[in-house]
Amino acid sequence: MTDRAASAEDPIAQDLRSVWHPFTQMREWLADEPLVIERAEGNELIDVRGRRYLDGVSSLWCNVHGHRHPRIDDAIREQLDRVAHTTMLGLTHPGAARLADELVGIVPGGLTRVFYSDAGATAVEIALKMAFQYWALRGETRRSRFASLVEAYHGDTIGAMSLGYSEAFHRLHRPLLFDVARLTPPHVFRWERGLDAGEALRAAIEEARRTMAAIGDTLAALIVEPLVQGAAGIWTQPPEYLTELARLAREAGTLLICDEVATGFGRTGTMFACEQAGVAPDILCMGKGLTGGYLPLAATLATEDVFAQFLGAYEQRIALFHGHTFTGNPLGCAAALASLEVFREEGTLAHAAEMALLLADRLASEIAPLECVGDVRQRGLMVGIELVVDRARRKPFDSASRVGHRACLRAREHGVVIRPLADTVVLMPPLSIRRDEIEKLVGAAAAGIREATGS
Ligand SMILES: *Cc1c(COP(=O)(O)O)cnc(C)c1O
Repeated sequence: MTDRAASAEDPIAQDLRSVWHPFTQMREWLADEPLVIERAEGNELIDVRGRRYLDGVSSLWCNVHGHRHPRIDDAIREQLDRVAHTTMLGLTHPGAARLADELVGIVPGGLTRVFYSDAGATAVEIALKMAFQYWALRGETRRSRFASLVEAYHGDTIGAMSLGYSEAFHRLHRPLLFDVARLTPPHVFRWERGLDAGEALRAAIEEARRTMAAIGDTLAALIVEPLVQGAAGIWTQPPEYLTELARLAREAGTLLICDEVATGFGRTGTMFACEQAGVAPDILCMGKGLTGGYLPLAATLATEDVFAQFLGAYEQRIALFHGHTFTGNPLGCAAALASLEVFREEGTLAHAAEMALLLADRLASEIAPLECVGDVRQRGLMVGIELVVDRARRKPFDSASRVGHRACLRAREHGVVIRPLADTVVLMPPLSIRRDEIEKLVGAAAAGIREATGS
């Protein structure tokens, strides 16, 4: 430990003494010196010593227009001069009202109602409760189950964990979770069972058809991360898969929930990923990028058909009894409105499309040829680089070797902050990333991978 830790006011000493970090083996954390980020500017993070790092994972997949964007900063300051927080229970405020109106205007058609919350996981819990109660109110109590994709991730609360069960993350809480039917996405067929892309898509659709035919009439909803299963390791799907799942859900008479918490707000190339499959879900969850990645705000959008089912006399008690204290927080709404304005003013989607092409080009020339790179997956500005010890056999590294983790630590020495999902190195820069920053991001990732794998 350095002399910095000697001071009682030192953030490193305070952190090591008092903080318990998310998704972190704290024994490992406590043995290391953490990187302390004090400020940021544009697409760069700045540590307490003034060193600059490219924010290669958008501060956990949420930053959109860079940090300290003047328009978003100003909007939050202006809101702060009016009020920081008021409740949405029994009251409303102009920001929440206007934002809801604007969101309804940019999501796929048919979604007309916005239910606010404060995290992706809460947006998913709300979707789950909406769908379940929708069928209960219609007297179709047989529709009480959910289906989701193998290795889906929908957040870390109990309901969201049940829907998005991950063996690596949630194994020890399994007894608390409810049973959910699983559909195998094309990636599993392609990667783990060695089929080519076309065969994998056909196999996944065939399996989905069989499952939906068998249990579709017992489902309250099918929930999907459209086009990219993020936390699984950036597993990509062809849009046709989502189109077909939507058709199967419709045919089975069940609801379709799209969890766009990670894919929303331009991340995959369109404002929402489901647009690329021509799909309009019954319920859509958003979070992460909603405020430009500034503040904890999330939303669950529903169709008028879903909404209308909850209407009735007070004493029937059929309202959606759900709410969080900071639901629809005014500072968050102000940031979200400003972020949407930036999308319009700066042509963010067009810029991101151009950067995605450049990124694809750099990945093909600098990353794909590396000996230990088994697969490079990209949709827009979401990238997963899967590291393997034997490319021909797609054999993974021994998980104790922490090769993904080590590659990311080495990349940090080249001035880029990235974070892996097991041995998949994830690149997910802000949509505002510039050309020179793409070069730097890919260069640092390549160097990190070479140094960590000795290739
Ligand atoms: C991150 C994520 C969530 C959970 O969001 P939190 O804000 O971390 O609760 C849910 N679904 C998907 C697809 C995500 O990527």
